Amino acid sequence: MKVFVAADMEGVTGVAVGGHLMAGGHDYERARVWFTDDVNAAVEGAVAAGAQEVWVNDGHATMTNLLVDRLHEAARLVVGPARSVNKPLIQVTGIDHDVFDACIMVGFHSRAGTPRGLLSHTWVGRLVHEIRLQGRPAGEVLLNAAIVGHYDVPVVLVTGADDLGREVKADLGDDLAFVEVKKTLGPTCVATLVPKRAQAMIRAAAEAAVRDRSKRKPLHIDGPVRIEVDFHHRDMANRAAEAGDCARDDDDRRLIYAANDVPTAVRALWRGFEMALREDAAFLK
Ligand SMILES: [Zn+2]
Repeated sequence: MKVFVAADMEGVTGVAVGGHLMAGGHDYERARVWFTDDVNAAVEGAVAAGAQEVWVNDGHATMTNLLVDRLHEAARLVVGPARSVNKPLIQVTGIDHDVFDACIMVGFHSRAGTPRGLLSHTWVGRLVHEIRLQGRPAGEVLLNAAIVGHYDVPVVLVTGADDLGREVKADLGDDLAFVEVKKTLGPTCVATLVPKRAQAMIRAAAEAAVRDRSKRKPLHIDGPVRIEVDFHHRDMANRAAEAGDCARDDDDRRLIYAANDVPTAVRALWRGFEMALREDAAFLK
């Protein structure tokens, strides 16, 4: 039995501010330890429930944050930047490389636009005002759940702050196991548990969730898939559109990605994001 762990950093125990999240930031090196240990707790729980191997995808920023020499020995780390030619399914790249029985998402955060949400954004905060999947506003957990669902893998457990807990239960069902490692008091302020306590909770929840995995159904999106992206500014949408595989409507900040399945739509969306993030040559500015 194999388990897939998608890991992000904003929802990790103790993390509250930008300095925890980027190399060079105040306490980033400490936050990498908290991050790795939250993931280890999930891996330990999965192993206790019978997993032989646990793939862990480092899905935050540069995607090179987890400390491989500190990870549980049952883990296999997916590490490397999310360029479309390199890591096309972003935070769940690897899900298509083996057969998995369950997916756990550790350390996630609420979607762009969440009122008073902690460090809220959807994939690329600089670009994205809102992403909708089949017309429904979608955060990273829902989008990733739809990708792994395409490969028949159910999401069995999510960890993060309480504002994320409300989002994922609304999106994926009240019966989804969620470990609340902190309460969100403001956009960069939390009342967090300490790692020792939070990680004991993650370990126990992961073991129970993986054991009970057959109770959770993979998220299958039936029929044609439509992902709409509302960018913050028109020029971002214009630039992203250069990557192709998208349509426009009368909102000039919006691109529409239509495909037969979620992974195909997401790959096209990510090629667009790369194009939107590209810097113009100096002579074009
Ligand atoms: Zn992140």
